[in-house]
Amino acid sequence: MVTAGVRFRDEFVDGESLRVVERDSLAQLHRAVPVSEQYGRSLSLRAAFVERHPEFWLARRVVGPTRFVDWLLVLLTAGGPQRVQLEYPVCVRCGVRSAIANPTVQDLYIGLPNARDAYLRSWTLPVVPCPNCGSPFERNAIWAERVPDDVLPTLAYVRQGRGSS
Ligand SMILES: [Zn+2]
Repeated sequence: MVTAGVRFRDEFVDGESLRVVERDSLAQLHRAVPVSEQYGRSLSLRAAFVERHPEFWLARRVVGPTRFVDWLLVLLTAGGPQRVQLEYPVCVRCGVRSAIANPTVQDLYIGLPNARDAYLRSWTLPVVPCPNCGSPFERNAIWAERVPDDVLPTLAYVRQGRGSS
């Protein structure tokens, strides 16, 4: 079991109770996840990311009547906690890869009582440009950071699909 021994706390976001991984459990989750599985690799990557970035939460949610388990990142913004998808786009102008937090992904809102409103509101959040050259991203980034060179080799598998869950 991936979460054996991992400590959580409950946080209420968008009318939904999320199980947020306590900071002192992130390293354990990062290590505990089997690296041979696509799902595990991705979850492990996100746990490692949140370890380095205290402005994010890693949270577990149970979605809809099928009880599908999903993991997501939450960014702590001035306006409150905001669910986001972590993406690694390359800037079309300068070619530098960044980590970005994108809130405008419909999957993040599936199963919420106010899914449509929460999704539409995500498009109104202020966006940030490429941290290297200042050009706008093609995706909606409300947070961005240039990816350190030593992280790049581990990102090869992120480019396929959503790169998460
Ligand atoms: Zn750029």
